[in-house]
Amino acid sequence: MANIINKFSLNGKKALVTGGGSGIGRAYAHALAEAGADVAISDINLDSAEKVSEEVNDLGVKSVAIKVDCSKIDDIKNMIDVVVKNWKRLDVAVNNAGISIWGDAHDFAIEDWDRVMDLNLRGNFLCAQQEAKIMIPQKHGKIIFTTSISAVMVNIPQFQISYSVSKAAEEHMIRCLAVEWIPFGIYVNGISPGAVYTPALETKELKEKVPIWEKLYPIKRLGEVEEFKGAVVYLASDASSFMVGHIMVIDGGYVLY
Ligand code: NAD
Repeated sequence: MANIINKFSLNGKKALVTGGGSGIGRAYAHALAEAGADVAISDINLDSAEKVSEEVNDLGVKSVAIKVDCSKIDDIKNMIDVVVKNWKRLDVAVNNAGISIWGDAHDFAIEDWDRVMDLNLRGNFLCAQQEAKIMIPQKHGKIIFTTSISAVMVNIPQFQISYSVSKAAEEHMIRCLAVEWIPFGIYVNGISPGAVYTPALETKELKEKVPIWEKLYPIKRLGEVEEFKGAVVYLASDASSFMVGHIMVIDGGYVLY
């Protein structure tokens, strides 16, 4: 029987993380690199992608930074072209880029609804579609999406209708893609975080909400980005060889209420 630790190894694998310049995506990039993969970092903010790419290089693997708007098909095609030009293949793709816009449903601007859907749902689908075009001829691949517990609960005290609906739809998209693509050897799964301490929480408006949210969690705190590293390596590696279309909830127990 193969040693279990070896099954988690990503030595020689080629990975891509979208929205890799910050927060959870940056932690994923570090995790995949620490497990041995070369990691392409794509982000709408090229400076932050380049910074994380340097950090990944310092971990002893190869990296490339790519500027992309994951809601735009031409950008997505370019992103995949850069990966294939550099590495000839793509073993692991983490579709992590996502945004949230808060607002009450009764006067939520349709432009904001579209912006959220265009990235979180449509954009992440387009990324997966382009990734599959590389992975189908390879006959293998791992595609991982970052969803959110907002897919199954209603955020309070702030309302996030478009975000919640985009993440709920993304979760069912994961199940559909998983069934359709497993015959090609492509594993599609998701990670669903609860609220996490990220640089985005540093704004005054968000800082005020943190103590309210902390009380809502059975664990009485939010997550740290490091706490998502194990899950992404598990889903990217051979250790998860029987996991198909699963949404891995990591939320300090929130959705158990
Ligand atoms: P973050 O804002 O720290 O990082 C998101 C990254 O995506 C940024 O670097 C940003 O520049 C990039 N980005 C934004 N729009 C983009 C676009 N159109 N194309 C490409 N890149 C783009 O956020 P995060 O908290 O690390 O979020 C990462 C994922 O985790 C998102 O999908 C988010 O919905 C999900 N999530 C976050 C939390 C949380 O509490 N932070 C909880 C649940 C789910």
